[in-house]
Amino acid sequence: MHAASIRRALLRWYERAQRDLPWRRTTAPYAIWISEIMLQQTRVAAVIPYYERFLASFPNAKALARAPEAKVLAAWSGLGYYSRARNLQKAALQILDHGGFPKDHDSIRELAGIGDYTAAAIASIAFGLPYAAVDGNVRRVIVRLLNNNGADLQIEADGLLDRGDPGRWNQAMMELGATVCLPRDPHCGECPLARQCGARRNGTQNELPAKRAKPTPERLTRTLLAIFRRGRILLVPSLRVKGFWELPEPFEGVQVGKMLREFRHTITHRHYRFIVREATAEDVPKTSRWCGLERLGDMPLSTIARKALAWNAQRRADNHFP
Ligand code: SF4
Repeated sequence: MHAASIRRALLRWYERAQRDLPWRRTTAPYAIWISEIMLQQTRVAAVIPYYERFLASFPNAKALARAPEAKVLAAWSGLGYYSRARNLQKAALQILDHGGFPKDHDSIRELAGIGDYTAAAIASIAFGLPYAAVDGNVRRVIVRLLNNNGADLQIEADGLLDRGDPGRWNQAMMELGATVCLPRDPHCGECPLARQCGARRNGTQNELPAKRAKPTPERLTRTLLAIFRRGRILLVPSLRVKGFWELPEPFEGVQVGKMLREFRHTITHRHYRFIVREATAEDVPKTSRWCGLERLGDMPLSTIARKALAWNAQRRADNHFP
């Protein structure tokens, strides 16, 4: 690859085409870190409001470390992959112990929840350190540029890195992958690297990177129970996401009544159909708790519970809830 011409073309393009994103207006390591963790497996448009609210609630590592876990999880509620929120709090404590945000790559890499990609992204964007960040977008761009699915991508990325401004370079590579070199039907006609791209030359851009075999999809049906008592609803601790609350599934002694709503939810290859039913019970599970309907917004609810309770907001608005 002609690294120098690739660098020139990509940086020129990035200068004019980059999206104006809130985390691009700062080089504060704390803010960069929060944005990078939120952006893992979550779309940019979905992250923006969470990022702004999270920074308003927890403006620095001290505020995050000292906040009750339930408050942090509630602020994360809806973003999914909740181990990320728990690791943020663990890492915030590490940052306090360290006496501030670590300024070298290896110490950043030691923070809870930070892998090679995130450490390189923070080190380069916040501190200008020469580490190439390789996420899914960058991987796709490099595989296609090389027209080689089996290359050592970290070595190739290191070779391409613009050491003069590694933060800007990493963001430019990610931006190209996110907006032009898309997984399906890349916009090669608008690509600043079209002339240097091996996949484009060979017409293989839609075949690379080679897909891994997907697990067989499963279809499952589950029942969730809405049990009300004096303006409160019964919640149980989530078995799937620690620290979160959900609606209970049928348990011994419960009287299951009419269906209230149904909705669908997909987790990787499992496609669930959830049916929410009204129910009554004399005895409830020991680990459960009653939550006032007006307090539901403050509870760390799993995404499934939030979807299950969406109907309730309308009922409350109409003053029909029990
Ligand atoms: S030319 Fe097409 S395949 Fe190659 S890097 Fe650009 S968008 Fe990706």
